[in-house]
Amino acid sequence: MFVDSHAHLFFKDFHSDFDDVINRARDAGVRYIINPGTDIETSRESVALAEKYDLIYACVGFHPHDAAKANDHALEEIEVLSRHPKVVGIGEIGLDYHYNFSEPEQQQDIFARQIEIAQRRNLPIVIHSREAEHDTLRIVEEKMKRVPSWRTLPDGRPAPKGVFHCFPGDSAMAQMVIDWGFFISIPGPVTFGSKPNKPNSMVEVVSKIPIEHILLETDSPYLAPAPNRGKRNEPSNIPHIARKIAELQGRSVEEVGRVSSSGVKKLFGVGT
Ligand SMILES: [Zn+2]
Ligand SMILES: [Zn+2]
Repeated sequence: MFVDSHAHLFFKDFHSDFDDVINRARDAGVRYIINPGTDIETSRESVALAEKYDLIYACVGFHPHDAAKANDHALEEIEVLSRHPKVVGIGEIGLDYHYNFSEPEQQQDIFARQIEIAQRRNLPIVIHSREAEHDTLRIVEEKMKRVPSWRTLPDGRPAPKGVFHCFPGDSAMAQMVIDWGFFISIPGPVTFGSKPNKPNSMVEVVSKIPIEHILLETDSPYLAPAPNRGKRNEPSNIPHIARKIAELQGRSVEEVGRVSSSGVKKLFGVGT
């Protein structure tokens, strides 16, 4: 049994064969699919899908690419949507300096304000960080210090604070964010080989970080794993990622599925 902790099934890539995609996911052993929004429209669509399909859960938020669209009114709506019973986190939020579709200052402001929404709602966050790790970590650390009670259970024990999706760092950064109370999430590129001048950093991370701190994700429709590299990605590809992680860690695929699914339960409260 697996969970796809990060997919975007609301994109039009899936409009023509949505139910087939869902059926293939179920057949592949994927029990739940978490769908982070990227702006206000897709956050609404994600909630609508979660209402319609038992295996789908939603997160709501503005992706850094769309930070320029996130005005006060839209952020208020994100907070309202976050009260829906099938909304399990705020995301995906963060910083992306690769394309800078929105200005970096604006990305930082919208990222910080969405962490504050998560803190008011005591929800976990789904972080997207690309070529922006320094600023991402700085903002997360500032916000954690300001609200130390964020993600504490009624009995005082800490609950996980979020996940760094498509984990962008090395194993030292992974260990640091794990110590902060975050999971890291591993997508399809872990199945890709290393280039001679550029080792696959996800392979390095997965070889050193125990499965207890790792979630599986497709990031569908992007980042399809081998042997489907370059095609549209979908949640039924999760076993390819799980098999690669199992191989790197010398564990069974079943164990990778079970332990990473229990991580999803701890983080998002999804699953049994
Ligand atoms: Zn992302
Ligand atoms: Zn994504």
